[in-house]
Amino acid sequence: MSTTLAPLTGKSKSPVKIRQTRMLIDGKWINSTSGRTFETINPATGQVIANVAEGESVDVDKAVKAARKAFEAGPWRKMSARERGRLLYKLADLIEENKDELAALETLDNGKPLADSLSADLPLAIDCYRYYGGWADKIEGKTIPITGPYFCYTRHEPIGVVGQIIPWNFPLLMQAWKWGPALAAGCTVVLKPAEQTPLSALRVGELAMEAGIPQGVINIVPGFGETAGAAIAEHMDIDKVAFTGSTEVGKLIMQAAGRSNLKRISLELGGKSPNIIFADSDLDQAVDGSHLGLFLNQGQCCCAGSRLFVERKVHDEFVDRMMKKVKNTKVGDPFDPKTTQGPQISQEQFDKVMSYIKAGQNEGASMLTGGSRVGRQGYFIEPTVFTDVKDEMKIAREEIFGPVMSIIPFKDVDEVIQRGNRTMYGLAAAVWTRDISKAHRLAAELKAGTVWVNCYDVFDAAAPFGGYKMSGIGRELGEYALRNYTEVKTVTIQI
Ligand code: NAP
Ligand code: MG
Repeated sequence: MSTTLAPLTGKSKSPVKIRQTRMLIDGKWINSTSGRTFETINPATGQVIANVAEGESVDVDKAVKAARKAFEAGPWRKMSARERGRLLYKLADLIEENKDELAALETLDNGKPLADSLSADLPLAIDCYRYYGGWADKIEGKTIPITGPYFCYTRHEPIGVVGQIIPWNFPLLMQAWKWGPALAAGCTVVLKPAEQTPLSALRVGELAMEAGIPQGVINIVPGFGETAGAAIAEHMDIDKVAFTGSTEVGKLIMQAAGRSNLKRISLELGGKSPNIIFADSDLDQAVDGSHLGLFLNQGQCCCAGSRLFVERKVHDEFVDRMMKKVKNTKVGDPFDPKTTQGPQISQEQFDKVMSYIKAGQNEGASMLTGGSRVGRQGYFIEPTVFTDVKDEMKIAREEIFGPVMSIIPFKDVDEVIQRGNRTMYGLAAAVWTRDISKAHRLAAELKAGTVWVNCYDVFDAAAPFGGYKMSGIGRELGEYALRNYTEVKTVTIQI
């Protein structure tokens, strides 16, 4: 495996200017009430990039007040839906104009290869804002033929003030998935970015102000989950919380909603997605797609194909081809155009992934490659491949969120459907086969919010995404996501 070590050091110049580190409340950039800040770290070096305002409960209160005012009395309420849509288009245009800067910021704060930020995160985020810009004036109710001399219709009204808590793995994209439908529906927002990656969200906040989104409509409170995040989940004047992150914290959000004001919730949580390779698939295509499906974003994807089931007949051939592909990985400085894998997000995640690698070895799986740290600084881990993985092993049951592939052999269709579904998660699944009947049967029987056939990680703003079982509640993207941000009102008029 070739490695190019991150040349960035604490003293080297930042590859991108950090313009904004304060919080956005009511259209103003301000320090936290306490005056405290927290460090955001470059995962390629372990060095501090910037100190960011640390929002807490009192700051969340201020943000909610601003969002409430903007929702009830501000220009947002009076603005036409088409005008709201136009502002979303304008924001998309501004993000596009600044895409190099934003991609660099994302790579600096998150560690993902710059090539990926530019080719995936930015275009997907821009597209998402445009897609929802198009929806703003197309959110329609129904007329309903009830019995009697009545005219009955529904209005799909914005739910109100929305709290949004996002993770660090796709910061810009998760912000777009949250802001796009919420703003299209006419809600106002209090966003808490992840403590590891607050910078791109703040820069997009500046662009939103430049686009002319009225003050108070979007508010950004960077800070920690246990304080700022929990304050959002508990808040009595937040009408809905949208959360993406771990299943563990998803449960806390749901409990907090239950304890407080029964705010609506939507949750997009973890996964342990089965990726199923049949012997009758195009094996090269399956190897490429499975490699992407696991190693994309340093393995830090909620929908990672982390249970890779391969039909016994082609198992050895598949493993050989996968090993060739994995050996070509270039782990290193995410700003180097040749790099294909950057660092994990943090020391904590690095330690967690390394502990899973140990568990795989201790439980008797065969580690064909990888398993070690790369370099002396930053949180780099070699791409790691295990075979002889059994369903009961920890690495086959728990979300690793790192570059660790578990290859598991299977015999036939019935068996793999059953084993594929034997998990508490249900976010995604994939099937590789040339047999169209088999493809449809698995697409129907796998309990997952998304099933990809002969592809992996195909995302589109129009296609809904979300989980069965403990992978979440509700769907993001597409028309379905608008349901997360609207209440249905029935109006009945005697005629
Ligand atoms: P996490 O704790 O679930 O973080 C996600 C977001 O929730 C962050 O903004 C976090 O704030 C916030 N948060 C944390 N505790 C909270 C609380 N008590 N109340 C309200 N908000 C809270 O995830 P993590 O610790 O970063 O990662 C742990 C594991 O979660 C990963 O190993 C991975 O398995 C999974 N994960 C899944 C996704 C996904 O896309 N589904 C994304 C990230 C992680 P902070 O900024 O303080 O963290
Ligand atoms: Mg956390």
